[in-house]
Amino acid sequence: MAEHKAKHIAIYGKGGIGKSTTASNTSAALAEAGYRVIQIGCDPKSDSTSVLRGNEYLPTILDSMRDSGKVRLEDISRPGYRGVLCIESGGPVPGVGCAGRGINAAVNLLQELKLFEEFKPDFVLYDVLGDVVCGGFAVPIRDGITDRVYVVSSSDFMAIYAANNLFKAISKYAPTGGAKLGGLIGNGLSAGYSQNIIDDFAHKTGAKTSAYIPRSLTVSQSELYGKTVIEANPGSQHAALYRKLAKTIAENEQLLVPNPLSAPELRSWAKDWGDKIFNLESGVVEGIREAI
Ligand code: ADP
Ligand code: MG
Repeated sequence: MAEHKAKHIAIYGKGGIGKSTTASNTSAALAEAGYRVIQIGCDPKSDSTSVLRGNEYLPTILDSMRDSGKVRLEDISRPGYRGVLCIESGGPVPGVGCAGRGINAAVNLLQELKLFEEFKPDFVLYDVLGDVVCGGFAVPIRDGITDRVYVVSSSDFMAIYAANNLFKAISKYAPTGGAKLGGLIGNGLSAGYSQNIIDDFAHKTGAKTSAYIPRSLTVSQSELYGKTVIEANPGSQHAALYRKLAKTIAENEQLLVPNPLSAPELRSWAKDWGDKIFNLESGVVEGIREAI
């Protein structure tokens, strides 16, 4: 067999935007296609991999490190759906310490335990909270841990604002060996113009859109069953969308450095969209596609 080289992929985005849902379904689809996959939750919420393992309890790396001197791989990892290896970095005791620093400790421990040499993954997905791009949260894209980032965003302004901040972090660290952008993933889209907003933001920042995932009850229902859509509703339209996204992520080698908008540019871009939506909702224009 050829040299075994894993792709290390970071999934970033604002809290609650759908990172864990998107990462877990992508992992499940990659595993279904026969790849060896590890998913590492790097969010203090520690629920990244829940739907891959039926909500079973899994001790986090930071909790295990606090509780015992010596942590073994089997203490902090569990095989989930189709063998996806699930790991949660965990976070500091609430109110104390920097959550980002936990990511660093977790990555160091996994390297010490020789996880990647032994498990020989094809893909490692890091699910990282991106509300605050403090030094700690930037670790996965800064220090050569991952080489590509996917940013999950809805068409809501705060999600785009967070995506733009992530673009700033990528463009800052990419020249010195940091990760590049694989693409933007539109998630939770509902209004007809949501897709246009995502596309327009991607266009303005030189990014590419990798997928559009509409808001769907199938996703909510699967989560309530403690499963990915791939497992709970394998024949659904959303399962097909996640398989397509997994294939795009697996094959994409067009990584780029985005051009984030400045604060005034972002404000005026948002205001223009406010006007367009107003015109659309009040019937001044018929279809937004023609309006831009
Ligand atoms: P994050 O990891 O970014 O904090 P989650 O993946 O946990 O966000 O998603 C937050 C909530 O939104 C969950 O309840 C999830 O089921 C729901 N959700 C995510 N994406 C979709 C979607 N496309 N359609 C419907 N619900 C979604
Ligand atoms: Mg999450």
